[in-house]
Amino acid sequence: MRVYNTATRTKEEFITREPNKVAMYVCGPTVYNYIHIGNARTFLSFDVIRRYLEYRGYEVTFVQNVTDVDDKIINRANEEGRSASEVAVEYTEAFIDVMRGLNIEDPTIRPKATEEIPSMIELIEGLIGGGHAYEQDGDVYFSVRSFPSYGKLSGRDIDEMRGGERDLHGGNFEDRKQDPLDFALWKAAKPGEPSWDSPWGKGRPGWHIECSAMSSKYLGLPLDIHGGGNDLVFPHHENEVAQSEASSGNTFANYWLHGGMLLIDSEKMSKSEGNFLFARDVLESHDSNVVRLLMLQTHYRSPLDYSLDRLKEAARSYERIATAVRNLEWMASQAADPSSGPVEGDASVLVDACDTARERFIAEMDDDFNTAGALGALFSLIGDANTFMASEYGSNEMGKQALKYAANTIGELLGVLGVNLPESETDDSWPREVVELAMRVAAYVGDDTAEAVDALLATRASARAEKDWARADAVRDGLSDLGFTIEDTASGARVVYKG
Ligand code: AMP
Ligand code: ZN
Repeated sequence: MRVYNTATRTKEEFITREPNKVAMYVCGPTVYNYIHIGNARTFLSFDVIRRYLEYRGYEVTFVQNVTDVDDKIINRANEEGRSASEVAVEYTEAFIDVMRGLNIEDPTIRPKATEEIPSMIELIEGLIGGGHAYEQDGDVYFSVRSFPSYGKLSGRDIDEMRGGERDLHGGNFEDRKQDPLDFALWKAAKPGEPSWDSPWGKGRPGWHIECSAMSSKYLGLPLDIHGGGNDLVFPHHENEVAQSEASSGNTFANYWLHGGMLLIDSEKMSKSEGNFLFARDVLESHDSNVVRLLMLQTHYRSPLDYSLDRLKEAARSYERIATAVRNLEWMASQAADPSSGPVEGDASVLVDACDTARERFIAEMDDDFNTAGALGALFSLIGDANTFMASEYGSNEMGKQALKYAANTIGELLGVLGVNLPESETDDSWPREVVELAMRVAAYVGDDTAEAVDALLATRASARAEKDWARADAVRDGLSDLGFTIEDTASGARVVYKG
């Protein structure tokens, strides 16, 4: 397996610190608002990476923090006249809801910054002791010049950074710093802010120290994988490296994986630019499987253009997959026709297509998690399955086994991408309107959509037998208006999505 490592700017062979185990850390959200779909993209990319590593047999320990103390949270709390912790709790819950709504697996451990202050203080004390940090009026700063390889992750030269930039770290430039390059590890409390006791008086941690403390506490160093969006490479991840390596003397992370930005109208989606869509709103009106497909059609490191058109296109792709699997399952469930069909060996065409698709899927994912290529393999299998179903091979016993195998293979590969198939028809995936249609044209009495579909087919069959073409057409046209078509096959008529 090869992965692109930001630290070396090359694709490298993936070798874990312990055989078959992966220690993985991905920076979590700052919970001052709902997350937008750009944030969701990054979390989704790492969910797929994790799922794929598990599929390949690794035991993955996945840690993702929640930044629940921060300037933005405090500002929001002040604006709304409530406490910072109320704001953080509300948006942490909303974040978890959206993650689950997107079928993103819960991390193994989800530490909250406010519950991890002692390990941050310990780390800061170690840095001060080692000459890498200094206290000034209740603040503590990391001394960037004390860590000679500062800049190595992002490829920056600190002497060039000194130039025009007054503050490189996102906060306000403060005279208390000995050097403008330095960044805060601990901030002295201001009135009304949440604060914790520390050797430097009351205060709160800086953002960067959180991740260093929580990742090493729960995973130990070096991490196998550290991930996040590529907007975090500098300064956040550069600072994490400096803190963790200066204090431990160990490599912080063996592989740095960074996701590309989600763009809208060619601009990065961001709350500060105001060009964002909340993920929860997108999920209100769109199936999470469709959102996942849209995102996975682009390689995780590339920028992704978000648009409604692309979402609609993804919805069509999803429908195509769902229709194929529904048809495979339906055909496989029909009794085999012993008199029909060619010799048994012909079913191997579809079995081979499945095995080839799985191999291609794995080869693409092994190449730096190329989900776009993996989806290509899946869609070509769907094409092969459709061709097979349209041929006469499907009706003998071997053919049925192959159909089942194809349906299972598609489900297996989709599952690796965290995409679920719709519930089967018996679980009421028909629209409610079929009941009304069956009442109207098939004298159906009841409230079960699957029964209604059966009643419609039975009515059509008897109407045709009686040459009552108007009645047969009423069934066909009614279903057509609802987006379905009737297919007459060797094993009887059935209703399928037009797809
Ligand atoms: P934040 O809460 O701002 O730290 O962001 C949480 C995660 O979302 C980080 O990994 C960011 O890199 C990522 N992120 C922010 N904006 C975007 C975007 N437009 N597209 C993709 N990821 C993003
Ligand atoms: Zn982080």
